[in-house]
Amino acid sequence: MLEEHELHYKKIDACVNNCCLFSKENDVLDVCPKFHSSRWKPSRTIGRPRKEFLLRF
Ligand SMILES: [Zn+2]
Repeated sequence: MLEEHELHYKKIDACVNNCCLFSKENDVLDVCPKFHSSRWKPSRTIGRPRKEFLLRF
């Protein structure tokens, strides 16, 4: 039930420099198209990489 509720907003990665969003065509990118900074934070835990920022819509 909780998972179903969480699907009601969409998560979009935002650039660490706040210059762009990794949405639509940028969603395939791993680095910022402007600053070439990494989209991902170095992961402290084993497994999936952590995203820099998440915006909720
Ligand atoms: Zn950027």
